[in-house]
Amino acid sequence: MKKALGIDIGGTKLVYAIIGENGEFLSEIKKIPTPRTADAIFEQLKSLAKEFEKEVDVIAMASAGAVNRENTRVCSSTPNLPEGYNKLDFSLLSDKKVFVENDANAAAWAEYKLGAAKGCDFSLIITLGTGIGAGVINEGKLVRGKSGAALEVGSMKISADRQRKCTCHRYDCWESYGSGTGLQTTAREFAKKSPEFANSLLNSKNPDELTTYDVVDGVKAGDAFSKKVFDLWQDHIYTGLVSLVDIFDPECVVISGGMGEFIDISALEAKVNAELVVPPMKLKLAQMKNNAGMVGAALLALGV
Ligand SMILES: [Zn+2]
Repeated sequence: MKKALGIDIGGTKLVYAIIGENGEFLSEIKKIPTPRTADAIFEQLKSLAKEFEKEVDVIAMASAGAVNRENTRVCSSTPNLPEGYNKLDFSLLSDKKVFVENDANAAAWAEYKLGAAKGCDFSLIITLGTGIGAGVINEGKLVRGKSGAALEVGSMKISADRQRKCTCHRYDCWESYGSGTGLQTTAREFAKKSPEFANSLLNSKNPDELTTYDVVDGVKAGDAFSKKVFDLWQDHIYTGLVSLVDIFDPECVVISGGMGEFIDISALEAKVNAELVVPPMKLKLAQMKNNAGMVGAALLALGV
């Protein structure tokens, strides 16, 4: 049986393990801090590859950013990783085959092969976290685009009003509203203009210091202000999702990522399906946990 060294390259940590053809972990999952410069990241990855290359057939990485069609480098800017990261040629890391895939695409593949989208050849997997990513499976294959960079759905504009500036310097990208960071921004804006904030459990806080977790905790405690902010956030997710479902006509849509577990899946499914032009879809919560990106990259690299 073939094996991969799977590595998830995050802004704060590198997570790695040996992964088999069925997506199973064949070693302990280890974590180390992500080095601060692009060159230091490259050296760290090279030493990991060297440590494991006798044991594995391929080095498979999941990374933020758009990845080229050859799966050898990240070709877009990556705000959470250091300058120069998108100049690194990962194919030089090892004499073994090296494969890198966008983390949302890799997580989508893991959900398709092993998780909530298993057996569903037309699926859309949305990753909600500090940003928004997505992968689309069409006729059992990942949609890649001419450069490999397709499905940058977080950058889809959902308004022409120029109301909220995004980290990418454009206005009103979907992720500046529908991500965890978007929820936080909505809470801060709303606290400053809504009279309900005066009666909120959160009102001892400075509006500019409200966090996503404050809102989630407020909802759990039955706080009306938090509920209103949270509903607004779910509406922002719905706004992007209804368009994407009409565009891709998936059988199954999976919500993944750290913010996914807070969503009322059946309410969102009913709301989206009620407005679709295409036939209804099934909305599901992801089954793969935090390591979906690393597992998906390993399966893709192993040709599974
Ligand atoms: Zn943007």
